[in-house]
Amino acid sequence: MFTLPAMPYAYNALEPYIDEMTMQIHHDKHHQAYIDNLNKALEGEEKLASMNVEDLVRNLAKVPETIRTKVRNHGGGHVNHTLFWQIMAPATGQEPEGELVKAIHTTFGSLPTFQEKFATLAMGRFGSGWVWLVVDPSTSSGQVGLSIVDTPNQDSPLMDHKIPLLGLDVWEHAYYLKYQNKRADYINAWWSVVNWKEVEKRFVESAK
Ligand code: MN
Repeated sequence: MFTLPAMPYAYNALEPYIDEMTMQIHHDKHHQAYIDNLNKALEGEEKLASMNVEDLVRNLAKVPETIRTKVRNHGGGHVNHTLFWQIMAPATGQEPEGELVKAIHTTFGSLPTFQEKFATLAMGRFGSGWVWLVVDPSTSSGQVGLSIVDTPNQDSPLMDHKIPLLGLDVWEHAYYLKYQNKRADYINAWWSVVNWKEVEKRFVESAK
């Protein structure tokens, strides 16, 4: 059985960038619903239900076809939101450091250029989905392998065998209470609560 991970900070900790009510509903209702629906889909599938969720969504081909779409949507929802809570933190003025910032400079030229490209994809994502900074582990050695990708619905980059370092939820449920139709304002505010230390940790681990 999959269970809802506790939030690593208070629901109001990301104010004023992301409001308390949005965080509470997003975590307690939306994320919980993905987990409940995933557990329901996997009833009688003990082997799959005992996998960790990353391995589960990386191995959708092993899931019986009758429940594969449900596992894709709700397993994706679970793994994506679990990452989302971790790669945010109360605004501390953090900036990317170390190996990560070097890799961002090598790949995108500068941090603002990276952020601009990321925001453009987030604005262009029609309907619901996510935008990601990922590492492609199939990149030949000596290359950084960073890229920005978007996914529809609750698809995870793990399904394409990429490693997500940073992800932005652009479903309306992530921002509508405070920002309504102004997705650009939400994206812009969100940079203030990115937990770059966690993103760098994931980047360093991805190279192992
Ligand atoms: Mn969401």
